[in-house]
Amino acid sequence: MAAQHRIDEVLASTIQSTPGQTEFYQAVDEVLQSLEPLLQSEHKYTDNNILSRIVIPERQIIFRICWIDDAGKVQTNIGYRVQFNSAIGPYKGGLRLHPSVNLGIIKFLGFEQIFKNSLTGLNIGGAKGGSNFDPKGKSDNEVMRFCQSFMTELSKYIGETIDVPAGDIGTGGREIGYMYGQYKRITNRFEGVLTGKGLNWGGSLARTEATGFGSVYFADNFLTKLGNSLEGKVATVSGSGNVAIYTIQKLYELGAKPVTCSDSRGFIYHKNGIDLKSLHLIKEVNRASLTEYAAMHKDAVYTPVSEYPENTNAVWAVPCDLAFPSATQNELNLNDIKNLHKNGCIMVTEGANMPSTPEAIEYMQANKILYAPGKASNAGGVATSQLEMSQDASMEKWSFAEVDSRLKGIMKNIFDLSYETSKEFNDEGNIMMGANIAGFRKVADSMLDQCAV
Ligand code: NAP
Repeated sequence: MAAQHRIDEVLASTIQSTPGQTEFYQAVDEVLQSLEPLLQSEHKYTDNNILSRIVIPERQIIFRICWIDDAGKVQTNIGYRVQFNSAIGPYKGGLRLHPSVNLGIIKFLGFEQIFKNSLTGLNIGGAKGGSNFDPKGKSDNEVMRFCQSFMTELSKYIGETIDVPAGDIGTGGREIGYMYGQYKRITNRFEGVLTGKGLNWGGSLARTEATGFGSVYFADNFLTKLGNSLEGKVATVSGSGNVAIYTIQKLYELGAKPVTCSDSRGFIYHKNGIDLKSLHLIKEVNRASLTEYAAMHKDAVYTPVSEYPENTNAVWAVPCDLAFPSATQNELNLNDIKNLHKNGCIMVTEGANMPSTPEAIEYMQANKILYAPGKASNAGGVATSQLEMSQDASMEKWSFAEVDSRLKGIMKNIFDLSYETSKEFNDEGNIMMGANIAGFRKVADSMLDQCAV
């Protein structure tokens, strides 16, 4: 009772002190509610006010970014870096470039990142950043000028042992390259300050693939635990970016058949299985829309967003055994999970951050649909980023197989830790609760050791 009261107090004061940050409240609510059994049994966290400390970022930086477009006009965007928690290591988390970016979105992502990074078992703190800049439709030169201007300010706050950003939505290899070049020019230091770098200049093999591969490894661990497997399963995947593409690749490699992918304009249903080669070409080379996929494959069906039934994401109405939301937050709601359930889906594995709404999660738990929350299942990306940092620091280069095998091991450890923790708190198989408690406990104990900072 006392624990629930404290959770309610912290939620109320978060809402009161940070108005308008809806996604952030959603992320905080999910984590704090699932900590209740831990707080009941261990009073040290509430006695030392850990909850009210952990929901406040250690530092948040907001800055103006001016850049010149191809027509010679000055354009303006807002830049963010939220350095949320450094109790267990230097800040680490991606940079999102998308027009929807605002402080609340960056804070929700940074908050999730604290627990995700903790679950990897590696020493990395939580952060997130980005801008409301939209790389879509911009020339390479415009993206370069934006990235250089963004890094000119960001470079004051980051460093290889301070804060190491990475990619996220809209920030891929091209953007990381432009930002890294500018960091080096400003600081005169060739150091591992960003991850997701090119292979010729400090990048790690298997980093590009890591989030998608990791998410499928996580699903594989979950199914294996229950005596099931990926073999022969039909999977729906949303998104067609970094996470989605490598989720699709690994699903094939482990014997499943991915039949969908999507972007912000529509989705593809290809009953015979998504053709990876075409997807790579359209999304990674041509940076084009999925309508091109339908033009290349006459047996694939393209549905534009304008034809989705109201308040649904039509990709989740496709019959499947497994669903892998891998695009963005809140892309799978109560209607969507009901459609998935009706069609026989047994598991949702989150490649994206917070893709399922709270109502959808509640439905999954009530109806025994296996649920792998993003902070556990998509942690392979940041874990491999840390492997990139290790290689940079020791000036070593590991083989693809070496990195992939470490990734596999890390994903198994995350699954085992989350599962065992769910058992410890008498809710076996509730991976959301297990992951939240296990991730929180390591960070909170470190905060207690370091006292009032
Ligand atoms: P990405 O390469 O930029 O791809 C994002 C994909 O999602 C694109 O297909 C995009 O379509 C679609 N999308 C984005 N916003 C959307 C929206 N509002 N509605 C519908 N579709 C939308 O990004 P990513 O790296 O794959 O990231 C995808 C998700 O995974 C994000 O939640 C990210 O935070 C999470 N994540 C990424 C990593 C990583 O290592 N990259 C690690 C952990 C978690 P358009 O191209 O049409 O916009």
